Amino acid sequence: MRTAEPIPRRRVLIIDDNRAIHEDFIKILCPGNSPSESLEKMEELLFGSVAPAPRGPEFEIDSAYQGREGLERVQEAVAEGHPYSVAFVDVRMPPGWDGVETTARIWEVDPELQIVLCTAYSNYSWDDMLVHLGVSDRLVILKKPFDNIEVQQLANALSEKWMLGRKLGGQMANLAAMVAERTRDLETANAGLLQANQQLAEATQSARELAAVATVANEAKGEFLANMSHEIRTPMNAVIGMTELLLETPLDDQQRDLMEVVRGSGKLLLTLLDDILDFSRIEAGKLSFEEHDYDLRQVVETTLELLAPRADAKGLELVGVVPVGISTHLRGDAGRLRQVLMNLVTNAIKFTDAGEVVVEVRVLSESADEVWLRFDVRDTGIGIDPSVQARLFQAFTQADGSTTRRYGGSGLGLAIAKRLVSLMQGDIGLESSPGSGSTFHFTCRQSRQRLDEIPPATPPESFEGLRILVVDDNRSVRESLCSALAACRATVRGVTDGREAMETLTAAATAGSPYTDVLVDLTMPVMSGLELAQAIKADPGIASVRITLLAPIGKRYQGDPTGREGIDATVMKPVKWRHLCESLGPASRLARSPVPSARLASTPLGFPARILLAEDNLVNQRLARAQLRKLGYEPVIVSDGQEAVRALESDRFDVVLMDGQMPIMGGIEATQEIRRLERQGLSVGSDRRPVHIIAVTASALRGDREKFMSAGMNDYISKPVQLGELREALVRWCEGRDRPVE
Ligand code: ADP
Repeated sequence: MRTAEPIPRRRVLIIDDNRAIHEDFIKILCPGNSPSESLEKMEELLFGSVAPAPRGPEFEIDSAYQGREGLERVQEAVAEGHPYSVAFVDVRMPPGWDGVETTARIWEVDPELQIVLCTAYSNYSWDDMLVHLGVSDRLVILKKPFDNIEVQQLANALSEKWMLGRKLGGQMANLAAMVAERTRDLETANAGLLQANQQLAEATQSARELAAVATVANEAKGEFLANMSHEIRTPMNAVIGMTELLLETPLDDQQRDLMEVVRGSGKLLLTLLDDILDFSRIEAGKLSFEEHDYDLRQVVETTLELLAPRADAKGLELVGVVPVGISTHLRGDAGRLRQVLMNLVTNAIKFTDAGEVVVEVRVLSESADEVWLRFDVRDTGIGIDPSVQARLFQAFTQADGSTTRRYGGSGLGLAIAKRLVSLMQGDIGLESSPGSGSTFHFTCRQSRQRLDEIPPATPPESFEGLRILVVDDNRSVRESLCSALAACRATVRGVTDGREAMETLTAAATAGSPYTDVLVDLTMPVMSGLELAQAIKADPGIASVRITLLAPIGKRYQGDPTGREGIDATVMKPVKWRHLCESLGPASRLARSPVPSARLASTPLGFPARILLAEDNLVNQRLARAQLRKLGYEPVIVSDGQEAVRALESDRFDVVLMDGQMPIMGGIEATQEIRRLERQGLSVGSDRRPVHIIAVTASALRGDREKFMSAGMNDYISKPVQLGELREALVRWCEGRDRPVE
């Protein structure tokens, strides 16, 4: 609650040259000082309280007898901070200023003062006064002789009005002060905001600049990695290639061991290079996934084919199981899928010393346009302690510290695999315990090819009528072959060794339903595949059965041109379904030649080919020539794309091995030029077909293959070129040539 402030007494100034007038004013305005007031007080003492007369405000009266004096009083009162509320001013006050002039002067000092001009008669009319003083609500005229009550009411009303005016003025001033303060606050806040805004703009600008710098740096990093990869690959090409050639020459054991180490380290370095490149791309979010048509079975089989020599060198059985009848015409990034598989299978082989590595594919679910796949990579290796399993998918992590020393590796493989799998919307995981092998598995989503886009497939194989015996000591191989062949309506049985095979074949023949085919594993304990074959051929009761030998790729079994061993066909292990079908199919029953892949990597290829080699680096030229000679070819060598184009204009070649980066004209431009000339009628191939161009390049970057292919090249091998890969590329060309031209 606010306590009421004491009302200050209102000051009133009387300016009149007539002294008696002053007395009158005091009587009227300050009755407490008058005798009647004293009487009232006495009456109160004698008779108790009397009804109080209504009171107006109390006044303090000052007097001045001339205008000038009045002005001085007003000045003093203003200076004291206690100004007059009302002044009664006589109009005629000789000899000094008259009332009008006095009023005008007083208002200069105290414009709020309420003035009552008192006059009996005057030199001024009301209009004159208004002309002198201006229209004002502070001025009232009182005609003399005045009535007491008139004076009192005027004093009351005017001083009240004056009071209200002051209060209002005070409040207005307060309000103005508040507004001013608020305005100042707002201005300060505004200035703060402006400053913050400015800082924000500066920060945004510098963030933009930093981002630009970072982008440039990142691009530079990517470019640097790509260049380094290219630069390191080129000399590595020579190191590994020359080592391979050296290994083909007579060496003593120690020299051979040393060279093997050189070759092994070289290959390891290349893997590391690829891993780091991939990992930095994934980290930079630069890894792009492509969509193209591919065949799932082919991806699995070629992956295993690549890794088979390693498995073989350790005596491991490498098995791929892709059930017959699942949709294998898929769309997706086969390269990335292969990369994950390669990684898991490479590890499985690396960490397994005896037994097998099995890759099994299953379809988890499928709809009209997508397939969910699950891959299991199972090994019988050293296993992994559960406590470290989760960590393995982090970069640079290995199960235990001794791994690097014993098995090598960077610990990046699984980290890359995990990221690739998650980019294919799948999951990766493992089951393993030390000593009992590991199973790594992952899922992924792939699109299905549109039905009308699937190439008219060879009609589904039917082996109806064939009775096939599978002889293999490895259960995974046996079971996968049996179930695949059974799915093609053959009558199949699997046995584990030669003795059981002989018994089964004999029993069936005796019963009048002999086997038509026997698939024999080359390497089995007790009785080898060759021994079994000989035994079969030596037994007239069963000798007519057709024998297909399953030979591990590394054993370099070259078939049996003499027929003495009794082998009708050879299929390399890990078994490619197409090869098996060809070997069991009707065509091969007439022409019984071993499939080309049965030959030794470095033996000359049987088919003729004119080969042009475009390569600017002298060491690489020598290497490629040596490799081609191994395969039975003498290449023509040119050192840039332009020379290659000229050579093709003047001579006929079947195959061009085209380096990517060359001075004057690179491989891509040269290929485009060659294709353009061909469209204009230049026939370069010896059999009037477009020349087969194989890109040979040190760019191992993602997307390069597609770049080469879209420039019109037919195939791609990356440096360092390995003899086996070169050989396979030439075989691919040769096989493709046998197909009719589309
Ligand atoms: P790297 O093989 O290059 O060291 P990875 O990321 O591929 O890197 O593997 C990480 C670690 O996981 C390996 O070092 C090894 O300790 C363990 N590991 C992976 N696969 C297997 C496996 N099949 N059997 C046993 N250990 C494995």
